Amino acid sequence: LEIIHIETPGSRSEVRIGEEWRRVAHLIPERGIAIITDENVFAIYGNNFPSSPVFVLPPGERSKQLSTIEDLAGKMLESGIDRSGFVLGIGGGVVCDIAGFLASVYMRGIRCGYVSTTLLSQVDASTGGKNGVDLGGVKNVIGTIRQPEFVICDPEMLLTLPAEEYLSGLAEMIKTAIIGDSDLFRMLEDHHGEVLRRDTGLLEMLVSRSVRFKAKVVIEDENEKGLRRILNFGHTFGHAVETALSVRHGFAIASGMALAAEFSVEKGLCGIDDATRINRLLQLYGYDKIPDVSPSRIEELVRHDKKKSGDDIWFVFITGIGQAVFRKVPVNEVIDFYKRFSVKPQG
Ligand code: ADP
Ligand code: ZN
Repeated sequence: LEIIHIETPGSRSEVRIGEEWRRVAHLIPERGIAIITDENVFAIYGNNFPSSPVFVLPPGERSKQLSTIEDLAGKMLESGIDRSGFVLGIGGGVVCDIAGFLASVYMRGIRCGYVSTTLLSQVDASTGGKNGVDLGGVKNVIGTIRQPEFVICDPEMLLTLPAEEYLSGLAEMIKTAIIGDSDLFRMLEDHHGEVLRRDTGLLEMLVSRSVRFKAKVVIEDENEKGLRRILNFGHTFGHAVETALSVRHGFAIASGMALAAEFSVEKGLCGIDDATRINRLLQLYGYDKIPDVSPSRIEELVRHDKKKSGDDIWFVFITGIGQAVFRKVPVNEVIDFYKRFSVKPQG
C-alpha cells in the first residue's frame, strides 16, 4: 500500500494505491452515506459494498448530465442525508465525476471519497479533483474542482475491466511517462508483456508512479493557471479525434500524442529519436497512429476547444521523453500542421 498525499489550499486528499477496496468501510462514516456506482460495477462488486443506500447509474458518458445530479440529490434528500453526509463513488471516471460534483453542490458541499475502478480513473481522473457533467455534447461544461478525501486504487479491480477500457487507461499512463517520467516510459517499454497481462504487482508500481507525478503537478497548480496544462499533452488533437470518431478517450489521446510529438519535432523542440521511441511504444501497445479524420473536421473541432483563448491555443509540446512545455500557438498553425501531416505518407 502506498499513500500519496495531496494538500492544496483548503483541502487534503490521499490516494491509496494497492489497498484492498473493501477496506473502504474503514474510511467512511458510520451513517449518512450515499454510494454512487454504475450497473456494470454493481453487477461485479455490488455484493461486497458497505451497507448503505446505493444509487446505480446506467454506465457510460450519457449519465454525465445535470439531470442525473438533480435526480441523485432528490434521492439523497429522501434517504435523509444531510450536511454531515458522505458521497462514496465506486466506479470509473464517469461515476467519480458525478459523485464528486454531487458532493460539491449537495447542501453546498458534503464530504466524498472514491473507489476508482478503471485504469483511466486510477491514473488520471480521480487525482486532481476535477469533476463535472456535460452539456449539449460538450464535455465537462459544468463542474467544480474539489479534492475527494481519499481515492482507493485497487489493482485487482482492473482484472475485470474490458480490454478496450484497460488500453484506454494505459494511454493516459503513457502520457504521464512522456511528459514527466522517463523511467516509467522505460518500464512500459521493457515490461510490455506483463503490462498487457495486467500483472497486479507491476500495475501497483506503475499506477503509483503515475499518480505521484500527477499529484506533484496538481499541488503546484490546482486551478490550471500554468503547469497543470502539461497534463493536456496529446489532448488538443486527441479531443478532436475523440469527438470525430467516437473512440474511447485513451485511443484518441494516443493518436493526439503521436501528432503532438511530431509537431514538437517540427518545431525544433524535440529530437527525432525521442519521437520515434514514442511512436514505437504506441505501436507496441497497438494504438493507431493516424486518425482518419479530415483536416476540415479537425479544424472545426479544434476551434471549439475549451483551452483556446482568442485565436491562440495552449499547446503542449515535448522537449524529450519525460519533459513537456506549453506554448501559446495560433490555432491556424496547429491546423496547418495537421494538414501537412495528414497528407504525408505514413510509414
Ligand atoms: P472511464 O474511467 O474510462 O472514464 P467509465 O466510468 O465510463 O470510464 O467506465 C468505463 C466502463 O467500464 C463502464 O462501462 C464501466 O461500467 C466499466 N467498468 C468500470 N470499472 C470496471 C471494473 N473494475 N470491471 C469491469 N468493468 C468496469
Ligand atoms: Zn485525458
